Amino acid sequence: MPVVKQKEKQLRAEIIDGRALAKTLRESIARHVAVLIEDHKILPGLAVVLIGDDPGSVIYVNNKKKAAVEVGIRSFVHHLPKNTSQDELLKLVQALNGEKKVHGILVQLPLPKQIDANTVLKTIDPAKDVDGLHIENIGRLMTGMPGLVPCTPLGCLALIKKVEKNLTGLHAVVIGRSNLVGKPVAQLLLRENCTVTVCHSRTPQLSHITRQADILVVAAGKAGLVKADWIKPGAIVIDIGINRTKAGGISGDVDFDDVSKVAGYITPVPGGVGPMTIACLLGNTVAAACRQNELTAPHIG
Ligand code: NAD
Repeated sequence: MPVVKQKEKQLRAEIIDGRALAKTLRESIARHVAVLIEDHKILPGLAVVLIGDDPGSVIYVNNKKKAAVEVGIRSFVHHLPKNTSQDELLKLVQALNGEKKVHGILVQLPLPKQIDANTVLKTIDPAKDVDGLHIENIGRLMTGMPGLVPCTPLGCLALIKKVEKNLTGLHAVVIGRSNLVGKPVAQLLLRENCTVTVCHSRTPQLSHITRQADILVVAAGKAGLVKADWIKPGAIVIDIGINRTKAGGISGDVDFDDVSKVAGYITPVPGGVGPMTIACLLGNTVAAACRQNELTAPHIG
């Protein structure tokens, strides 16, 4: 019987600790990196490209760099000015595509107005596309072929599987349909044999749908959108949202205190999906380095 059903009688949800799971994942990645260096003389390299000085993006890029270095991945940060032209960025991406020391390339989004993100994303070598946003990798995910999968959705799935190994037949509801998060999360859950409903800003009677969810994944970017009466008792609730609070912190899309009275499991914000996103980026970099050297990508976990 699925865990979600067994938890129905509990009043307070169990917290799925993203920091702890990400730490375990990073330790496992560090061991794989050590083996790649020792046995195969391969030092995985991750290039992160940042355009401009958006404070949020600067923090994300610094966090990614620090996390990469901690597991033994070589980090290359390319910080370009806000007025960088699309051609200049494309030239840099092409140079990184041809650079042997770089196994993963990530262009930090959003990009300034003069640059078309889709044009940039499709210029990245799909084998180095550690964000999983190249159309080839999206197609691979859709068709069940091996490829690089977007990091936040990968992290969400790992958090869900931490508390429920077998997702077959469960009803998963995803709020949000972005290419970055909502759609790939839905694809991953479909691949796990869930019945998946994708909701968005035009979905009527949202709470009627969410109340049917054994697994609810929320990626709307609307603080406190999801309340306790939207939740099926015992459900697994994954909160992807990041919303800035007036006090300078961050909060999720789920009203944590209210929803945790009804849910079986819940991820906090901060400390849930966020740390897993970075850990999965490191995992993707190692997987990319393996595949580029015709080695089997390890199962990291
Ligand atoms: P987005 O703005 O591209 O997409 C938001 C989606 O939510 C849209 O499909 C929209 O239709 C839907 N939506 C908006 N308001 C809604 C409402 N009231 N009811 C139902 N659906 C609604 O955003 P995104 O890039 O998908 O990111 C979503 C959230 O996840 C943001 O808060 C973002 O900061 C966060 N995020 C977190 C991580 C992480 O690592 N934790 C990574 C990426 C994004």
